[in-house]
Order: sequence, then structure tokens, then C-alpha cells
Amino acid sequence: MTQLEFARDNKVTPQMRYCADYEQISLDLIIEELASGRACIPNNINREIRRPCIIGRKFSVKVNANVGTSPDSCSLEYEKEKIKTAVEAGADCVMDLSIAGDLKKIRNTLLEVSDVPFGTVPIYEVAYNLTKEGRPVWEMTIDDVLKVLEEQAKAGVDFFTIHAGLTRRAVERYIGGRLMKVVSRGGSILTEWIKRNKQENLLYTHFDKILDIMHAYDVTISLGDGLRPGALDDNTDKAQIEELIVLGELAQRARERGVQVMIEGPGHVPLDLIETNMRLQQRLCGDAPFYVLGPLPLDIAVGFDHIAGAIGGAIAGWHGAAMLCYVTPAEHISHPTKEDVFNGVVGTKIAAHVSDVAKGNQKALKWNREMSRARYNQNWDRQIELAIHPPTAAQLRKRLPLVDEKACSMCGDFCAINRVKEAMDLPQ
Ligand code: SF4
Repeated sequence: MTQLEFARDNKVTPQMRYCADYEQISLDLIIEELASGRACIPNNINREIRRPCIIGRKFSVKVNANVGTSPDSCSLEYEKEKIKTAVEAGADCVMDLSIAGDLKKIRNTLLEVSDVPFGTVPIYEVAYNLTKEGRPVWEMTIDDVLKVLEEQAKAGVDFFTIHAGLTRRAVERYIGGRLMKVVSRGGSILTEWIKRNKQENLLYTHFDKILDIMHAYDVTISLGDGLRPGALDDNTDKAQIEELIVLGELAQRARERGVQVMIEGPGHVPLDLIETNMRLQQRLCGDAPFYVLGPLPLDIAVGFDHIAGAIGGAIAGWHGAAMLCYVTPAEHISHPTKEDVFNGVVGTKIAAHVSDVAKGNQKALKWNREMSRARYNQNWDRQIELAIHPPTAAQLRKRLPLVDEKACSMCGDFCAINRVKEAMDLPQ
């Protein structure tokens, strides 16, 4: 049975209990949101996860970090380090997007290293296998796809991105007029497949077979946005909305089959249209958890896209996005390093937390209040403990010799907190 089916039967699983404790929220709410399909707990039946999480807009906003090899940077050891870095920095989920090296070995090793839900985009492995066999990617058959899905599900992958909502109609009618056409890797493979075969997307046509495998292992389906806008000029256009409508229909079919589901979202979207995009998704997809990539509210922040992504992500989370996919400083220009992964996760964690505060999440509000108390009391150990990344805070505290141990090296004797405390003690 899947977590969705357990919730429908009003049965509590250890994962639900863990999430209720973590969120400091009632089990009833967890069950209600899971049973309705407004939330999911990705956890393959073949895998024990040390830190499972619930993804849904009634809960704290989650952060996903992508790792994986590329043809120009292919080291399993380095990708292992990146996963550890991401999880230590606070990522709630990770995805392996490897496209070079021994994909099976890489995936299985990273699965072992990951303490959090682990996702993949199986069509990468399908395309990789075809290329190795000397077959063009557009010769892919549904059997090629199902074989990889079955193998990855059996290995314990917790969620799959499946680009089943990218249809022939959208490809033929809408992407031609776009500035950036298609920027999703999976989306580009399927666009080529549709154009060359002059047929409907095979993932859409055989969606029920895909659901059968996912149901058997409780793999959550993350319905991919193959047509996400890759430029501000393409945001909220016909191609994106056409795909979103189809994703809503597929989400409903997944729920009916008992498969947990989330929906992937944009992409490049100007700040003033992020709320509209969240509302549209909620309306068109029956409030399925929305997992957004950024979003990026501008196109020009190369080298600093993690900051742009955090700004967009904070607004998206505030208006209902359930999980933010991190963006690293290397986005659009290079394969990310371990440092890029760290900066991407921390920036996105801050964005998620900003959203939680704006949504009135009690745990987040308490955390902030405790920090302010520790700050006023000049309790430096406690401030470090409560910081978004304690090792960074500890390192900064020690960076310069202190004139006054109670203050910090910013103002020394002119510490405003000390001065006002003393002033407040003066007789009236
Ligand atoms: S020294 Fe300045 S920055 Fe540091 S705690 Fe006091 S008021 Fe704040």
C-alpha cells in the first residue's frame, strides 16, 4: 500500500508519525492532507529513510537539491560529497540527475548515502542506454522506459520526474513562438521524440502502465514541467498553461490509482506573476503539492542565480509552493561544485523559511523569536545553535579578536544592545 492509501484507510505509518513530530503538527492534519492528495510523503517501500518529509502547502516549505554527473565532470566520489553537503546544509530531498558514467552504480551509491527522499528523472537513463546501444533517442519505446522505471523503483528511488504532460498538441501549436522553446532536458528528449515520430508522447499514452509500477513500490510521481518557461518572455504562455492543464488531469488519474503525486512548476517568471502561477496550479491541479524550480524572477543573474532563485522561491512558497528546487550560482553556465551546492541549499532554505514565517508557521515563528531573545541576551552559543547554518555562524563569531566578549566585533564598545540595556537600568 502507498502512504496515500494508508491515509485513506486512516492508518498511521511511522513516516506520518515522524513528519507530525518534525512539523510539530497534529497527525490528523497529516492524514487529512495525504488522503486528499494535497500532500505526499515520498518513501519507496524498499527504502528506509532517516529523514522522511511531508510535502504540501499546509506544512513547512521543503527544499530539494539536485546533484549528478555530467560529461565534463564525472566523479562518483565528488557527487557523494555533494549529496552529503546538501543534506548537512538542510536539503529535505535530493535528486540524482546524472547523465555520465555508470548510471546504475552512481544511483545506487547515492541512494545509500542519502538520508532524505531521493528522486531521479528516469528518462535520462533510458536515453543514456539507447545512446550506448547506438540507437537514436527518438527510437525509444515504452518497453525501454518501463524497464528502467521497474529497475529504479526496485532499487528504492522515492520519486520520479515523469514528463507525461508534454503533449503533441503543445509541441505542434505553441513552442514555435517561444524565445527559448524548450529548456528542460527531459522535455527536449520528448519534444524530439514527438516531432520525429509524429506521435503522441509515449509517457502520456502509456501513463497507466507507469502508474502501475509506481503504485507497486510507492514511488511518488513528480509530474515534470517539460515546457517550463526558460525566459521571462515565455512565462505563463500557452505552452506552459497547456501542459499544466494536462498535468492536472494526470494528477487526478494518479490519485485515483493510489499513487502519490506532486507537480513541477516554472521556471523563469517575473515577480509580479509568481502568485498568479501558484493560484493557477492550485486551481488546475486540484491543489496537488507544487514543486517549483526557482522560480527565477529575472534572466540576467548569471553567477548569482541562487540569490535570484531565493527571491522567487520566497514569494512562491508564501503563495503555496510546497517545495523549492534549489538553484546554484552555476545555473545556466557550469556544472555546480560542492561550494555551489552549499550556497544553493542555504539560499533556498532561507527562502523556504521566509515563506514559512509569512504563512504564520508556528514552528518557524518560534524559532525566530528564540533567536531574537538569544540576541538580546547576548547568548552567543544559543545564537550560533539557532543560526540557519551553525558552523558558519561559529566561524564568523571567532573571526576577529573581541574588545568586549559580550558584544561582537561589529561595534565593540558602541554595542547598541549593551548601551540601551545600561540606559534602561538608570533611575527614572
Ligand atoms: S556589537 Fe553591534 S552588531 Fe554586535 S551585537 Fe552589539 S549591536 Fe549587534
